[in-house]
Amino acid sequence: MKTIYVDNNATTMVAPRVVEAMMPYFTELYGNPSSMHNFGGKVGGAIEEARQKVAALINASASEIVFTSCGTESDSTAIKAALAASPDKRHIVTSRVEHPAIKNLYEQLSTQGYRTTFVPVNADGELDLDYLYDNLTDGTAIVSIMLANNETGVIFPVEEIAAEVRKRGIVFHTDSVQAAGKVPIDVKASPIDMLSLSGHKLHAPKGVGVLYVRKGTRFSPFLVGGHQEGGRRGGTENVASIVGLGTAADLAGEDLVNGSIARMAGLRDRLEKGLLENVPSSMVNGTVKSRLPNTTSISFEYVEGEAILLLMDQLGICASSGSACTSGSLEPSHVLRAMGVPFTAAHGSIRYSLSTFNTEDEIDYIVENMPPVIDRLRQMSPFWEQQAG
Ligand code: PLP
Repeated sequence: MKTIYVDNNATTMVAPRVVEAMMPYFTELYGNPSSMHNFGGKVGGAIEEARQKVAALINASASEIVFTSCGTESDSTAIKAALAASPDKRHIVTSRVEHPAIKNLYEQLSTQGYRTTFVPVNADGELDLDYLYDNLTDGTAIVSIMLANNETGVIFPVEEIAAEVRKRGIVFHTDSVQAAGKVPIDVKASPIDMLSLSGHKLHAPKGVGVLYVRKGTRFSPFLVGGHQEGGRRGGTENVASIVGLGTAADLAGEDLVNGSIARMAGLRDRLEKGLLENVPSSMVNGTVKSRLPNTTSISFEYVEGEAILLLMDQLGICASSGSACTSGSLEPSHVLRAMGVPFTAAHGSIRYSLSTFNTEDEIDYIVENMPPVIDRLRQMSPFWEQQAG
């Protein structure tokens, strides 16, 4: 059975051209980039080339790019650097729908004497900007707002937020892990101070990330050690993955202009329309006005997401649900709860996240095979029976 992979917000396939670019760094080019000899120097040169390519994807300067081990490390580094830069400021702001990389860090910081503000979203998953601005004070050290949500794909107006936050002299960070490569990012066009990316969300391998740090931003390393990354991140570089990320950034830049992203958005729309038309009591979570081109979160009322995933798995379809099995009970995600999605819908939510590698045939297969899955589960659901009368 063929695997149909529509779980690209979880992770992506490493693109063949990326694998090809990485291979020499596992075999003949194994020198340490910090070594004085030419053999290591060559490897160091490859890192600098990758730095330029990543910088180009977000219109940054190469010197503003710091390679890390993942998106989570980039997020932690940004927040901790801002706190270290202003030890007297004890207030931190984020949204209620961030990835655990930010959410759980803020929750930990709240147990360490920091006052935290979690900005709410409305039923469409859009941020309450007035609430955000009204809560900024002289004691606010950092505002961190994701560029695009990993569950719904909803895009936040971070350029506007960055400008407002800058006016008040507060550091602004954005987690752009899901947005990179799917929508254009231009750090020169907006006063974003720090921005996180992750390799495995854009067809590079797992275990490599990026933190963009605007020139002039007060910064201290999270990992203290050698002089790597200009002293901003100690530890011998994950050379092959960094080289792979450089190639992936190149490919992502090409996809943004060659029509691939638009084609993918068309497939996402075809999937969404097909499912909504063929499954009664189904709805999209999050606004469709400003959304990533690859994501749709759809709730199928009166069924359990985990059960849907299991049956989808038997059909070879890989996706994610918006609920997680914690301590034996199926809890809807914090994102859907923050949006106030009713329980009957939140439990049966499925996130489909496409990549440019998906085909029309795959989408048609999902549209054909999903409705009977939902129907079968509903026949077993007492809640469905009740509401159907
Ligand atoms: N931020 C967002 C929005 C994400 O979706 C993810 C991964 O799912 C991360 C951060 C964490 O990235 P990594 O897996 O590279 O640590």
